This record gives sequence, structure tokens and C-alpha cells, in this order.
Amino acid sequence: MRHLAIIGSGPAGYYAAEAAQKRWGDAVRVDIFDRLPVPFGLIRSGVAPDHQSIKGVARRYEKTALTDHVRFVGNVTIGEHVEVAELQALYDAVILATGAPEDRPLGLAGDDLANVFGSAHFVGWYNGHPQFAGLDPDLSGKHAVVIGMGNVALDVARILAKTEREFAGSDIVAHALEALTASGIETITVLGRRGPHNILMTPKELGELGELERAHPRVDPADLPPLDEDAMLEPGLRKSVTHLRSFAATPEAEVGGKPVDIQFDFYASPTALLGEDGTVRAVRVERTAVMGGRPIGTGELYELPAELVVSCIGYRTTPIPGVPFDERGGHFSNEDGRISPGLYCVGWAKRGPSGTIGTNRPDGYAVVDLVAEDIAAGGDRRGREGFDELAAARGLDVVTFSEWQKIDRAEIAAARQGAPREKFVDIASMIAARH
Ligand code: NAP
Repeated sequence: MRHLAIIGSGPAGYYAAEAAQKRWGDAVRVDIFDRLPVPFGLIRSGVAPDHQSIKGVARRYEKTALTDHVRFVGNVTIGEHVEVAELQALYDAVILATGAPEDRPLGLAGDDLANVFGSAHFVGWYNGHPQFAGLDPDLSGKHAVVIGMGNVALDVARILAKTEREFAGSDIVAHALEALTASGIETITVLGRRGPHNILMTPKELGELGELERAHPRVDPADLPPLDEDAMLEPGLRKSVTHLRSFAATPEAEVGGKPVDIQFDFYASPTALLGEDGTVRAVRVERTAVMGGRPIGTGELYELPAELVVSCIGYRTTPIPGVPFDERGGHFSNEDGRISPGLYCVGWAKRGPSGTIGTNRPDGYAVVDLVAEDIAAGGDRRGREGFDELAAARGLDVVTFSEWQKIDRAEIAAARQGAPREKFVDIASMIAARH
């Protein structure tokens, strides 16, 4: 028998569990730990609430979760309730699938002003993650600045721009829907330090910006490279740039008819956040030129009014005491997923925050290959039986998958008209709903 502990119940964790199941069948037991009482990590707390079809992938994880040999162990924080070394003594392999839940710091003067948020916080707020549900951003100002030109920046800009009606069918949490519905934001500037050929926005998601009810994307035609240069782009990026070209070509009559502008500001690097009475009021920006793919400051400075700033410049894994960490990369130090024999990492905790949810699938299978190389037939570890003893001795309040299913049913029952669910946004309510 092989005993595996997977830390983190998001896509990387469940794909690794699925791979272990496929490889060893009845000869493996997998425990998937999560610090929250609810599973699925990024699917629940990261994927945009209006992208329900992407969230459907959780049904595949549920299939893995419902097999007899895979257990969900919720409401247990590794590194706090139980140490990694203790798990290593109990399981043949410990796989860290903890994702990248922290913001990469902006590192600019003024980034500690009120109403400046990293995307982990802001996305966590509108997705009802218990850690961020109380964020309470002030959306009463007219100007929002979103820093970054990746898919998270797109998510944030789109969520800020949508009307209440456009959230129908989404699982956006009530507190966010209420705040967004009352929002006074008229301009959302998306800042990119490089040009249109350097965006990291995927075409389907970028196209959605052109379909919004009360907002229209604006692109300055002067920022677009000559059309024939698009030919050398890889196909996905070429499609995204085609969207930018169509936004730039939209007649003013059509753009001006919508009250909210989503302004793309290219070649624009934020250099400081400026405040008044401790709250952000503007972003100082330096115009750049791109040389050899890198943004170089030109010395030309200007200020953008901003009463809300959301920085969407990437994420970091949370370090765990005793586990080697690559500070530069913002993930665990590892060689192709192996930290040391018996200790592994997978997904964003291994390679940093890049790729799609599907990228985690081959990752999950690859880490199980490594585990198989290292543990062969398995050892004499006690696995879940040993963990249960430890949990009982420490008085840990473990939430099981069947208890999550009750929480799930309670959330579905509480859904407003047309919504798939109304999430519990604090741990006490989740725990209370499990019986
Ligand atoms: P990302 O794709 O890496 O984009 C980060 C953006 O921040 C880039 O435009 C980057 O510009 C910019 N940036 C980084 N440091 C900066 C700085 N100091 N100042 C100004 N700009 C800075 O990261 P992400 O948007 O957080 O997305 C993470 C991953 O999740 C990606 O793989 C993404 O595709 C995925 N995701 C997918 C979906 C979806 O499929 N619907 C939705 C959300 C997220 P440079 O390029 O110049 O560095």
C-alpha cells in the first residue's frame, strides 16, 4: 500500500490524486488536505464568478474525490495544525499543491495606501474567499486603474464594468454584487508596461470586453504596431491583437454611447501611487519604449486619477516552514517537481502562476511518475490511520467530503434567482452548514 498526502484541493491537487488513482488503483490511499472546509481552491476562489463553464471542471475532481481511496481532509492548515515533517513521517509521499495564493508585491511608493489591492485580495473579495471577504473596497470614485495585461487584469476590469443583469447566472457573492451595482466607476484604465504584441490576455476572454452592456474598451490606434507585424505572432496572441484592432476601430458614436470606458494604456509603467489622507488618488506613470522585448522608461511622466487601484501582476506561493523556497520565482525550490525524495510540489506551487487550469493535468501525472520512481512498492507508513490519531490527539475539527456536500447543498439552496449558489464567505458558517 502507498500512502499519499496532497496539500491543497485545487486543480493541481485533484489531478495528482487522479493520476495516483489511475496508476495504483486499490494499492493507494490519498488524503487531500485543505485549510478551508471547502474544496477546489482556484476553481471556487480564483476563476471569475461569471465564468461558470470553466468551474464545471470541478465535476471531474468530484469523481476522483468520491472514490473510496481518496479522502478530503478539510479545515486543516499544514504548517500550523500539522507540520510537513509530521506528514512525511506518516505518508510515503507528501505533494504540495498549494497554488500561489499571495500577491506579487508591486513594490512602489504608495502601494500601502487605502483602496490599493493586489488581485489575490480583490478577486478573493468578489469570490467570497473567507480571508478576503471583508476587504470592503470603496467603489464610489470615478476612476479605477488595473495594473497588468494578463487574464486576471481582464477578469478584474470586466467584473468592475458589468451591470447587475450581466451577473445573472454567476456565483458572485452578495456583498460584491451589491457594491458593484452601486459603483460610481466611469473609467477603468488597464495599464501595460509593454505594447499590444506583449499582452498575456487570451482571445476568448479579451473578446468578452467588446460585448459588455454599459462599457466599451478603448484602444488608441497609434499604439498598434503595423498590421503586417501581426503575422509573426503565435495564433492565440494574433487573435487577441485582432480584438485590440477591432476595439481601436470602433466608431466613436458606438463607444460614446456606453457610460463606462475601459481604456487600454500601453507603454505605461506605474512608478508611484499618490494619495490624499492615506487613500489613493492617482497613479504616476512613466511612458516606456520596448527594446529587445523589455520596457525601458523614457522619462516622460504623467498622472492618472485613481480612487481604486488593483494590481494584477502575478502571484506567489505561501512558504511553508521547513520547505525550501525559491524567493525569486515565488514557489517552492524543486527539480521538475521533486523537492527531496518523499516531498514534491505540483502546479503553481512548483512552476509559478502560469498556464491554464488544464496545464495542471500533465503536471499532476508527472509528479506521480516521480513519486513512483522514489517509493516503488511503498513503505510501512501508517497513512490516514496515523493522521486520524494525530488529528484526534490535537482536537482538529476535520471537514470530510460528505460534509462538504452538505455545505454545497446549503449554498445551492441559498442561491438568489438564477444563480448557481450563494457562497458562505466565512469559515464558521461553512462549518455550521456541514450537518
Ligand atoms: P500574467 O498572465 O503573468 O500577467 C501579469 C501581467 O502583469 C503582465 O501583463 C505583466 O507584464 C504585468 N506585470 C508584471 N509585473 C509588473 C510590474 N511590476 N509593473 C507593471 N506590470 C507588471 O498573470 P495573471 O494575469 O495573474 O494570470 C496568472 C495565470 O492565470 C495566467 O496563466 C493566466 O492566463 C491564468 N488565468 C487564466 C484565466 C482564463 O483562462 N480565463 C483567467 C485568469 C487567469 P509583462 O508581460 O510586461 O511582465
